[in-house]
Amino acid sequence: MKDLAAQLDDRKARHLYRRRRVVAGPQGPETIVDGRPCLTFCSNDYLGLANHPQVVQAFRDAVTEYGVGSGAAHLVTGHSVAHHALEEELAAFVGRPRALLFSTGYMANLGVAGALLDRHDRLFEDRYNHASLLDAARYSGARLVRYGHGDSGDLERRLGATAGSGHRLISSDGVFSMDGDLAPVRALAGLARRHGATLMIDDAHGLGVLGEHGGGLLEQQSLSVEDVPILVGTLGKAFGTFGAFVAGSEALIETLIQQARTYVYTTAPPPAVAQATRASLRLVQQDGWRRERLRSLVARFREGASQLGLALTASTTPIQPLLVGDAARALALSDALLEQGVLISAIRPPTVPEGTARLRITLSAAHQDSHVDRLLAALDGAGANRLAG
Ligand SMILES: *Cc1c(COP(=O)(O)O)cnc(C)c1O
Repeated sequence: MKDLAAQLDDRKARHLYRRRRVVAGPQGPETIVDGRPCLTFCSNDYLGLANHPQVVQAFRDAVTEYGVGSGAAHLVTGHSVAHHALEEELAAFVGRPRALLFSTGYMANLGVAGALLDRHDRLFEDRYNHASLLDAARYSGARLVRYGHGDSGDLERRLGATAGSGHRLISSDGVFSMDGDLAPVRALAGLARRHGATLMIDDAHGLGVLGEHGGGLLEQQSLSVEDVPILVGTLGKAFGTFGAFVAGSEALIETLIQQARTYVYTTAPPPAVAQATRASLRLVQQDGWRRERLRSLVARFREGASQLGLALTASTTPIQPLLVGDAARALALSDALLEQGVLISAIRPPTVPEGTARLRITLSAAHQDSHVDRLLAALDGAGANRLAG
């Protein structure tokens, strides 16, 4: 075994050591973190549904009806009426023939690649894709080809250079998780069609947030199942619950049921989680005001931040990163904010590329205008315009 203690010390010396903060009570803008009250701006509960009374009630009622554990994998005896109904509702929500629940987004991404690709195939990925998509390449054995971030020209060159060799899958985040910007999905769909490749979009951060009905980036861009045959969504973010799904054609979903090992060989999530998600899906669709509210909070934050002279990225989504660059400075800024009762974790390599450490600021429909004002005051007080950019 390697010298683990020495490795950990080295990580600390490079300001890359990660620590968990212990949260008490439910998710929300105001939480108790390591025993002290904090205003948080780093959760993915974008619509404020994780502790919504209707979602909580649906969970409670379902526990009374189903108990807690699902008892087995979906293919054995774990696939309940609740899971089945949720799959049908999710498919209708994203306008695709079928949807299949997975326990997590990480497992969904591994499962799709593992079921569809082998070492004779190629997987084309945006350089900034989520870790689970990159790991999916390794897991499937397919040859990984990374293209420049959002650079469809670079992807086109790489597709052209590998014509005629095995299956080709292009996968991309819809909304990029650490940057908040959008994948050029229309261009990707066009390239996939012209080059006989299949396109897969992981819209973990777009579903619920983008599109008039919350259907995500693909609803916003009016892209059908023919344009994007594989859509992955997660339920632990804007939906405020837990789990993930893949949506697509009948044949895709049946193939995953037969062959996705991260689907077949794992216990189904508790049915009560599925019931809670059904309640949250109704709110996602009904409460257009939550998306409106997010847009107005994003505008308020960007306006205030530019008045403070903070360099903002081009993001229009609730993910509003503040680039710092150096990992040590990002940590120092995060600590200085915590001193003022504002929690935003520093995101450092290898989660983001070397030299692009940042504070990943996220907004939620549950934030009030006054919360954003307190965030801006805290950034000012912490000297963010000196440290960032
Ligand atoms: C969070 C995330 C995942 C993983 O989803 P989990 O359900 O948390 O495992 C996958 N892809 C992207 C883009 C994500 O942001």
